[in-house]
Amino acid sequence: MNISIREKDRFKVIDTPEHKDITILGSTGSIGTSTLDLISRNPEKYSVKALTANSNVEALAKQAIAHNAEMAVIADQDKYSDLKEALHGHNIIAAAGSEALNEAADTSADWVMSSIVGAAGLKPTLTAIRRGATIALANKECLVCAGEFMMQQVEDCGATILPVDSEHNAIFQIFDFDEPEKIEKVTLTASGGPFWNKDIADMQYITPVEAIKHPNWSMGVKISVDSATMMNKGLELIEAYYMFPIEKEQLDIIIHPESIIHSMVSYIDGSVLAQLGTPDMRTPISYTLGWPHRMNAPSKKLDLTEIGQLNFIRPDKVKFPAINITREVLQKGGSAPTILNASNEIAVKAFLEGQIDFLDITKVVEKALDTIKIHQMTCLNDVHDVDENTRIVTGEIVEGLKK
Ligand code: NAD
Ligand code: MG
Repeated sequence: MNISIREKDRFKVIDTPEHKDITILGSTGSIGTSTLDLISRNPEKYSVKALTANSNVEALAKQAIAHNAEMAVIADQDKYSDLKEALHGHNIIAAAGSEALNEAADTSADWVMSSIVGAAGLKPTLTAIRRGATIALANKECLVCAGEFMMQQVEDCGATILPVDSEHNAIFQIFDFDEPEKIEKVTLTASGGPFWNKDIADMQYITPVEAIKHPNWSMGVKISVDSATMMNKGLELIEAYYMFPIEKEQLDIIIHPESIIHSMVSYIDGSVLAQLGTPDMRTPISYTLGWPHRMNAPSKKLDLTEIGQLNFIRPDKVKFPAINITREVLQKGGSAPTILNASNEIAVKAFLEGQIDFLDITKVVEKALDTIKIHQMTCLNDVHDVDENTRIVTGEIVEGLKK
């Protein structure tokens, strides 16, 4: 059993200030802009400390000025002078590069949104964890690639992790942390992405444009492709395992194309608790931003009579091999989740760049998991080494498949 994100006693002593200083790692993305939208609706309650982005100087500077941020950090070192120029005349510190990204995570914000995409978010998220911060975690990849070490640091440093991913946020709301032994099953719902009812014969030639057109959610490109392959749900299975005190076998996945029920928890007495809402990330983000209190969110309110029907389908494991791959990875443990995550990041990038076909994404991941020796990891340096090596090996696998 894992260390829970919600150790009862730890949560009781948490100090939740009336006014919160906020840092957003990955502020220009889909989660970052939704978070800033909530903040701008409650300016008396929040102040922005630091905002960070990868390379979009214009968007970052605009956000930093609009929200009166203390600091703006661009990860791409070469963009430093552009950022400095864009912030000229404003009292905002401009910085660039990975060390500056860490500094942003290290500023004394009360609440940090971790919403960088991919393993690139691991280092700054760990920096925020080490100073015992409250972290709203959207970046599932960092938990997948370094779950055990990350949760151990959360424990050691007295940090608080609040789940942003809609499924995990739902579980967080309905999970009885006082009596986890009374829980039989946790069911993650999946939209199934744009292709859940498409014939497998028609899936080979899916284009990146088709793959990123999600039917219910508006998200960044990487997670949109992950949703289309259902790798997203596999990553979420691992994310849930590290976040909640449950066994691997207690985790289930079902397709629910309407994305109204965000996940369910089944108890030993036959009760099943679910969290419902319209598919708008501002609801789960608001739950973490206001936590431990609920706050107003502008998401469309749910009217079930308007929806009419809710459907549930078992995922087709032939069409979506990612589900079985991730289950096996979870069983194997050790370096397997790190390999899974890094190879998937490379495969998705290759697909988006038109180098491989849609169905090749999971094939590449499987090949990487077969090729690279899985071993126990003893420290965070191991995570870094496995991640780096996997990216090289997967690059070679992609080379061999290039169209
Ligand atoms: P996005 O692509 O829209 O935004 C990513 C952000 O990270 C941007 O601000 C970008 O500048 C920054 N970034 C990207 N690469 C970086 C790098 N190498 N170094 C530093 N910064 C970098 O992504 P998103 O959809 O907002 O998703 C962010 C995270 O949240 C992902 O892990 C995703 O799985 C998770 N998530 C997203 C949603 C959603 O609805 N979008 C839902 C659940 C979970
Ligand atoms: Mg999700």
